[in-house]
Amino acid sequence: MDKSWMSQPRWIQEYIDGVNSFLEFAFLRPSISGKILCPCSSFINRYFRSYEEVKDHLMIKEICRGYTVWNSHGEEKLIADTETELYPGCKLFSKLSFLLHLYRIKCLNSWTSKSFDILLELLIEALPDGSALPKNTYEVKKIIKASDLGYTKIHVCPNDC
Ligand SMILES: [Zn+2]
Repeated sequence: MDKSWMSQPRWIQEYIDGVNSFLEFAFLRPSISGKILCPCSSFINRYFRSYEEVKDHLMIKEICRGYTVWNSHGEEKLIADTETELYPGCKLFSKLSFLLHLYRIKCLNSWTSKSFDILLELLIEALPDGSALPKNTYEVKKIIKASDLGYTKIHVCPNDC
């Protein structure tokens, strides 16, 4: 995830685009009554605020410049998915890379979410203990959307899934 915008002055377009990408990232995750911790330079992840409020804070005050790993907003979880092997000892795929491959096949072949759920169920049963697959299409999408790695490519899916 590109964070070079975080060191830019807040009136520069790159900073404004960066704030939007941060909000998109943070609000993909479960929030508490639609609120997330506000990472602006005065609140520094101490108080929960709504989408509009966080956006205002980040535009008016600026983001806390030292907050480069967004661990209060789920980024650690994403890094963990990238580094988790698909199952203990698996050398070929990380959890995330496997999901990206799998989801791409689903899209290219227009599989329904229901059929994809069934495949996931089978894979979860078949993989060794300690494997790390999400249990349904919805969970897979959440993980993929959170990784801007896979999302831009997969988003060209003609079926909009
Ligand atoms: Zn704030």
